[in-house]
Amino acid sequence: MRLSRFFLPILKENPREAEIVSHRLMLRAGMIKQQAAGSFSWLPLGKRVLDKVCRIIREEQNRAGALEIMMPTIQSAELWRESGRYDDYGDEMLRLKDRQKRDMLYGPTNEEMVTDIFRSYVKSYKDLPLNLYHIQWKFRDEMRPRFGVMRSREFLMKDAYSFDLDYEGAKAAYNRMFVSYLRTFTRMGLQAIPMRADTGPIGGDLSHEFIILADTGESQVYCHRDYLGLPVPGADTDFGNDTEIAGIVREWTTPYAATDEMHDEAAWSGVSADDQVSARGIEVGHIFHFGEKYSKPMGASVTGPDGKEHHVSMGSYGIGPSRLIAAIIEAFHDDAGIIWPESVAPFDIALINMKPGDQACDAVCEDLYARLTNAGKDVLYDDTDQRAGGKFATADLIGLPWQVIVGPRGVAAGEVEIKNRKSGERETLSAAGLLARFG
Ligand code: ATP
Ligand code: MG
Ligand code: MG
Ligand code: MG
Repeated sequence: MRLSRFFLPILKENPREAEIVSHRLMLRAGMIKQQAAGSFSWLPLGKRVLDKVCRIIREEQNRAGALEIMMPTIQSAELWRESGRYDDYGDEMLRLKDRQKRDMLYGPTNEEMVTDIFRSYVKSYKDLPLNLYHIQWKFRDEMRPRFGVMRSREFLMKDAYSFDLDYEGAKAAYNRMFVSYLRTFTRMGLQAIPMRADTGPIGGDLSHEFIILADTGESQVYCHRDYLGLPVPGADTDFGNDTEIAGIVREWTTPYAATDEMHDEAAWSGVSADDQVSARGIEVGHIFHFGEKYSKPMGASVTGPDGKEHHVSMGSYGIGPSRLIAAIIEAFHDDAGIIWPESVAPFDIALINMKPGDQACDAVCEDLYARLTNAGKDVLYDDTDQRAGGKFATADLIGLPWQVIVGPRGVAAGEVEIKNRKSGERETLSAAGLLARFG
């Protein structure tokens, strides 16, 4: 992509409305634009990150055996009357009427709709286990939308729903999502800690919030220092092996970790003071087993091996990709801007032409641009006539992992400079050396 053809509305000034660094940097880097309270457009740079984040989520959901579908954003109130949640949900639900005066709503979540899909087709235990997910916009009329896409009203969610014959099956499904989440967040460079969360009237211990530690987090959390060094399961994890998966979950649920609502002072005092991490956290994912809460009132059942009808045992599994992007920036930035982990960076390389119009510089840049692109790298080629200082500031602000700097002096000597955004380290290489590095 040539920067001269890209749409990158960088802000020079710090936007006054932004209270936290991720919101500030997303606005300044031209990733998002606010459209109304808690409602944002994703501009080209932001959209590229959103796509990369969703891609990782998809790959890890698919690996764990979940199947992608797509459900509508606008739902009929009828389904929610069946589950009893239409009246219970309260003011967070955006309620609408269509021209026939039928009650509709903008989905804040999809348990009812996915249960309706299930009950329409699945009749036998032989078709289980089943896990269906989608990545779709949600609307929640939050009391206090704030911090940009961290707590917005319209936001993207990956929500998965599992269906099993019984509790044992549902627990295995829960465990697969648990392990899938560990892998998902790690691939984005994040350390997300699964913390025991409130199960409310459902009871049991199958609810975990995945929390990123950050000073700007809205939740108070408590965990054992051991979490910071636990090895995350690799890509070769066998999701078909319930025992292996349960073993990983056991390892990741043994040290103390709880959100504020679940915090247990007595158990906490058993953790040595040196190992106690008490911090602020951001909820980026939440997995929850709720059994027959929807399958019973909505009549979602299958015939079991015993020939009898069983209400299926369900769970739901959410991740907020839009909130995640803000959390990634909270974790990775410095005074100059964002520092993207390579896996979610909007481009891999900023190719900076220090003197556009200079024949030699242009020729080297065009050549590198073509070759790096052919090698599969996403390159943002700064071919604009902005002054050098401005180009460096932009590259630092938008946080691409590598900068390749091409100036007249280097070109005369057959060299280019590279800079690593994270470490700040610079290195001088020949064009061939550069291609060998990134090719
Ligand atoms: P919170 O406690 O922050 O209000 P929640 O518990 O209501 O979140 P869930 O219903 O568990 O959220 O939804 C699953 C995921 O969706 C959350 O873990 C979070 O990543 C994301 N999410 C929820 N609400 C928002 C929001 N207002 N803006 C952005 N992402 C959100
Ligand atoms: Mg909420
Ligand atoms: Mg919550
Ligand atoms: Mg939650």
